[in-house]
Amino acid sequence: MFNLVIFGPPGSGKGTQSENIINKYGLVHLSTGDLLRAEKNSGSELGNKIKELIDNGNLVPDSMVEEMVKKNVAKNKDAAGFIFDGFPRTTTQAAWLDNMLAEHGQSVTLMLALDVDDNELRTRILERGKVSGRADDQNVSIIDNRISVYHQQTQPVMDFYSAQGKFVSVDGIGSLDEVFSRISTAMDQSMLQCCSN
Ligand code: ADP
Repeated sequence: MFNLVIFGPPGSGKGTQSENIINKYGLVHLSTGDLLRAEKNSGSELGNKIKELIDNGNLVPDSMVEEMVKKNVAKNKDAAGFIFDGFPRTTTQAAWLDNMLAEHGQSVTLMLALDVDDNELRTRILERGKVSGRADDQNVSIIDNRISVYHQQTQPVMDFYSAQGKFVSVDGIGSLDEVFSRISTAMDQSMLQCCSN
């Protein structure tokens, strides 16, 4: 099994590049942003709580997200591996993921971080907001809050995987093909190391 954590700030291209990765490597995509938006749009009581947090650019509590991840991993027992997109976003989530995967005799193979500077992120997210319809993509102060939440709460997750020798950073600036080619190189190398025998 190859379990990839695709990592990076909001707007760094995680979702877009995940599609390319699925096409080439056939992993199961698990995006906590997508799962949370589905719950948010369901109109449930939980969905309304989630809406309040997401629309203001804040994180949803760890336990809520972990529950969703657990259910979706269990649903895909035959997967060749997962792409965790938007998760883990805190070091608590990262430690939880290690434990949950260990219960299945699995582990994170590689954490691949897309490196994009804050100015480029703001431009990209506002551009995406014109078509995504996402409230959190359309307001500059909410976008800035998401970027600052990323720096404060999410960036430390890099050190978590770096300490395990699993962290690789990829330049996220360039055409979609250029960035994907960098991702493929990193994944192929990691696959050779982890899964060749
Ligand atoms: P982006 O990468 O553009 O921020 P996502 O779709 O990954 O978009 O996430 C959208 C929002 O969903 C986040 O701003 C946050 O409120 C919530 N969210 C997604 N994943 C997590 C997570 N792992 N932990 C807590 N909140 C999350």
